Amino acid sequence: MIDPGLCGACLHARRTGNARRSIFWLCERSLTDAGYPRYPRLPVLECPGFERRSPAGNGPGGRPAAGPAAG
Ligand code: SF4
Repeated sequence: MIDPGLCGACLHARRTGNARRSIFWLCERSLTDAGYPRYPRLPVLECPGFERRSPAGNGPGGRPAAGPAAG
């Protein structure tokens, strides 16, 4: 399988497949911003739109929910 680079950890990436079991990485930023390719050429090594996906994905936009302020 091709290494997707940054897309593999990006909040805006959606992995899709087809009947031939090929894997594609769809950039959801492309749906609202024509500056992003729908299917980026992999591996993506640099991208101004990259936002790291939270492992838990439990807050708005997949970011951790805000907790009580420390201190
Ligand atoms: S914003 Fe960049 S890193 Fe994120 S899915 Fe789109 S092309 Fe990949």
